[in-house]
Amino acid sequence: MPAFRRNLTLSERALIDIATACTEVYKKEAIGLLIGVKHKKHYMVRDAINFQSAIRGYEYVNVPSIRINRVNYVLSRLTDLRVVGDFHSHPDFPSRLSPTDKKDVKKGGLALTILVVLNRIKRKAHGWKAKDKGIVGDIGNRYHMKIMAFEYDRKLEKFNKIKIVCPSLRKINRQLREKEKTRKTKTR
Ligand SMILES: [Zn+2]
Repeated sequence: MPAFRRNLTLSERALIDIATACTEVYKKEAIGLLIGVKHKKHYMVRDAINFQSAIRGYEYVNVPSIRINRVNYVLSRLTDLRVVGDFHSHPDFPSRLSPTDKKDVKKGGLALTILVVLNRIKRKAHGWKAKDKGIVGDIGNRYHMKIMAFEYDRKLEKFNKIKIVCPSLRKINRQLREKEKTRKTKTR
């Protein structure tokens, strides 16, 4: 049987939540939960919750499962959404899951994990685009962000990089271009 892989749709709100959470604590690691719906062939990630008080440090982020259970409790009473995965950031590098990251996913009950790599830049901002299944883009001329999603296959004990679809990238790029245009006319 051919292995099928889910892809992931990232809402605009989830993208912005993740971007602000990871930038806020740079150069520390941010960690949080992905809220949405898990379908047979697809994850719909609608929101991301940042854990401000998570124990953070390079390659040491930890969210106790009791907190995930509490979040799920609230979600199940107020919404039709669930915790579908988690996210965390690597300030500067590395651009892959560390052995600790993998161990955490294997131990935890969530198969989906998003990794964000955030770098400082000093250049004109580029737009956002899909790249190598993930998405990349700049936040102003200060930060470059790379977002990757992985799903852990418990049967094969393997991590698969899954494709992220983010329909709002076009909108973000359009806004960028419009801002650039107004800036140019103003300085003329
Ligand atoms: Zn990590």
